Amino acid sequence: MNFSPTDSQQKIQQCARDFANTRVAPFARAMDERGEMPMELIHELGAHGWLGGALPKEYGGEGWDNVSLALCYEEFGRADSSVRGLMTVHMSLVAQCILKWGTDEQKKIFLPKLARGEWIGCYALTEPNAGSDAASMETTADEYENEFILNGEKIWITNGNIADVAIVFATRAQSLKHKGICAFLVETNLKGFTREKMRGQELGHRASDHAYFRFENMRVSKSALLGNVGEGFKVAMSALDHGRLGVAAGALGVAQACLDASVDFARTRRQFGQRIGDFEMIQSVIANMAADVDASRMLVYRAAWLQDQGQRATRETSIAKLFATEAAMRAASEAVLLHGGRGYSNEYPVERYYRDIKGLQIYEGTSHIQRIVIARDIIGKES
Ligand SMILES: Cc1cc2nc3c(=O)[nH]c(=O)nc-3n(C[C@H](O)[C@H](O)[C@H](O)COP(=O)(O)OP(=O)(O)OC[C@H]3O[C@@H](n4cnc5c(N)ncnc54)[C@H](O)[C@@H]3O)c2cc1C
Repeated sequence: MNFSPTDSQQKIQQCARDFANTRVAPFARAMDERGEMPMELIHELGAHGWLGGALPKEYGGEGWDNVSLALCYEEFGRADSSVRGLMTVHMSLVAQCILKWGTDEQKKIFLPKLARGEWIGCYALTEPNAGSDAASMETTADEYENEFILNGEKIWITNGNIADVAIVFATRAQSLKHKGICAFLVETNLKGFTREKMRGQELGHRASDHAYFRFENMRVSKSALLGNVGEGFKVAMSALDHGRLGVAAGALGVAQACLDASVDFARTRRQFGQRIGDFEMIQSVIANMAADVDASRMLVYRAAWLQDQGQRATRETSIAKLFATEAAMRAASEAVLLHGGRGYSNEYPVERYYRDIKGLQIYEGTSHIQRIVIARDIIGKES
């Protein structure tokens, strides 16, 4: 068993760390306060290959394996969850999904533009009445001659207002449940499509773009189908295998950032005439955090490695997402406490880590849903 990343994986990680440390982390607080991510940064991510690395070279990517991709998300997650979130939706939920399910024509049209970040992608599954139970979606796709006509709403769509291309899920008939769902790959300039910012101030990911979509008689050509008619649910779930790995790796990055910040603070802050890091109770916090970070890292890399072997890794990916997001939640909570009053202010980044991490426990399947996926896989279906 070899636990070391290869030379090329290490190189990708180092480049991601350098970029995240210089071009993302120093601006994370300002982006969080302003509530938006500058388009210049998104273009820069595209120009440096951070939005398409996982795509094959023929489509403008770098042909990274999933371990490299996880290392990349870990480093960006360490710097800022909004930026890492944009990347995961764009690259894992959208680009990798088109790579798996798209026709040659769709791949040729969409992937090179996505790889360069000329087009931004989003993934539109969640609806007001269908979240965890995605198969109960109400957005309809009615077949009419050579087209489908879409009507309905989607919420919480990351990158939704800036996206040029969307994977949209809709059903031919709710009574067909999973089997009625179709996936469509559409440009966002179609007639009958409107979008706006989600209402309300969000707890974290404040620099992310979260959108509300409405489809009113939006006509979509049959050539926009991603996968066959009725295969949309499979398309959605296979995309989530990739996306969840990205979220798990991002959570690992957040936990590592909490540990780094806590160690720095424990070494410098003095009370009762000594470094707080010399108090056993603080040492216990740091040790638990370090153990959680290590365990998350092993689970994330294992899931990525299994995906690279072409093995089914749904259970292992859900385990990685469940454990890494919950471990990062604990780490962020302890990091704020360890910083005392300073941790309660955005003068220190742990305050942002604490707000951001909750989102990772919710999107791409909440922790409850990950437990269901894991347990069903272990127990199996009744014969
Ligand atoms: C920051 C952010 C970004 C997002 N980005 C996207 C995106 O890009 N695209 C997209 O399509 N969606 C996106 N979402 C939506 C997200 O995927 C959903 O919020 C999530 O799947 C949960 O759905 P829900 O909010 O409707 O909660 P519900 O499904 O209503 O769940 C409410 C509660 O009930 C629990 N629950 C539900 N069913 C069960 C069950 N069977 N057993 C036990 N507990 C259960 C849940 O775990 C949760 O605690 C995003 C959400 C957030 C917060």
